[in-house]
Amino acid sequence: MEKLKKIIRDYPDFPKKGIIFKDISPLLADADLFSELIDKVANYSFFKDADAIIAIDARGFIFGSAIAKTVKKPLILARKKNKLPGKLIEKTYGLEYGEDVLSIQDSAITPFNKFVIVDDLLATGGTAKCVIDILSKKEKKILALSVIIELTSLKGAQNINIPTYSEIKY
Ligand code: AMP
Repeated sequence: MEKLKKIIRDYPDFPKKGIIFKDISPLLADADLFSELIDKVANYSFFKDADAIIAIDARGFIFGSAIAKTVKKPLILARKKNKLPGKLIEKTYGLEYGEDVLSIQDSAITPFNKFVIVDDLLATGGTAKCVIDILSKKEKKILALSVIIELTSLKGAQNINIPTYSEIKY
């Protein structure tokens, strides 16, 4: 997937000084490459074995929904604070500066046991770990974390104890 590395743009010091932001917008605008990528990722056997896919707010929704449509599996949203109605399971997680909250609807996960988590990028792993903690609290099984980009120097995959699959590593 050399084409992927070429199309993802780096923006140094965005949104904060010291962060090199990986912009996936040009990838989404390349219909052939986006489609090729989704087909490749959706082919992983853990998607077939999963009962449902959980996608993380917000760019995880883009990839999660395309994969869910391809593998014909239910899609569940892990959303930022104050976005979901009903009975929620929530967890606060640490960011580089400050903290944030992710929520999942209790009724959305109740019917299922085996999940795959999808996001655009794995950095420190704090965001994915938050979803893992929510699912673990409910005694759900997590088969894998699937991301497009992994920033290996931040050791996110080591911070979470589930198999992690990434399409490009930096
Ligand atoms: P982390 O919790 O540190 O693994 O961060 C992962 C989340 O933050 C993902 O949902 C990404 O969308 C976002 N993120 C973190 N670092 C970057 C980056 N360098 N470029 C783009 N998105 C990032």
